[in-house]
Amino acid sequence: MNQPRLLTRFAAGLAACAALSACAGSISQQEEVQMGQQGAAQVNAQLPMLNDATIDAYVNSLGQNIARRTSRADLDWHFGVVNSEIINAFALPGGYVYVNRGVLTNASNESELAGVLGHEIEHVVRRQSVKQMEQVQSSNVGVGIACALTNVCQNTAALAAIQVGGTAVFAKFSRGDEVQADEGGFNNLINAGINPRGMLTFFQKLLNEEQQSGGSGAASAWFSDHPGTQDRIADIQRMLTENANRLGGLRTDTQAFQSMKARLRQLPAAPRTTQ
Ligand SMILES: [Zn+2]
Repeated sequence: MNQPRLLTRFAAGLAACAALSACAGSISQQEEVQMGQQGAAQVNAQLPMLNDATIDAYVNSLGQNIARRTSRADLDWHFGVVNSEIINAFALPGGYVYVNRGVLTNASNESELAGVLGHEIEHVVRRQSVKQMEQVQSSNVGVGIACALTNVCQNTAALAAIQVGGTAVFAKFSRGDEVQADEGGFNNLINAGINPRGMLTFFQKLLNEEQQSGGSGAASAWFSDHPGTQDRIADIQRMLTENANRLGGLRTDTQAFQSMKARLRQLPAAPRTTQ
């Protein structure tokens, strides 16, 4: 998923690297993790975080359960909840995944939330934002072009920009990146014992909400940024059909998820936000 108009596709560190020819070429895992740590510090300082120990513990447990069965199980994964009812999620390099409260509010079972987490985890597993940084670095272009490529410069004025090394840069995932993240996320869920059908039902729910709200609902930011959503739904339907024999016995929901939902309903409303 993307976080439209916000911190989505984080690619900070580019500026620092561009300025220091020292890190030309590939970005090491250590550098990637450092970028993620710095970005996470900015996110935690600049976005309203839910900071509810019970809910954070559940989301972390579910996220770790999925991430630890991927090819990047060695990363130190972190999962946070942003206190915004806008339906979205995003990932920083190095294993920092954030989900907005709106996803928890709108998910009906664990499979639906896991679908969002599994997708974001796959963006990190595939190092998609890191690869973008490497490409920009290797072509030796500076921050100005990064601005042009990613629209971050328009965004930063209105938003809580994440800065590392004095500059914020957001990678822009391609439609192909999103499809890959869906496909990898689908398999991440199966490997974690979770039925990936929640990816489909959650997308369909977003579509319904968007149609009912006439483009002004909590899912609108998602659709303005994801013109390929209908195609992605078709792709997930195809995968569900092709993998039907792998889905037996996989779980769709847990008591822990429903306890989290009950806790969520007790909390004060999220602050109004356009992010
Ligand atoms: Zn995505």
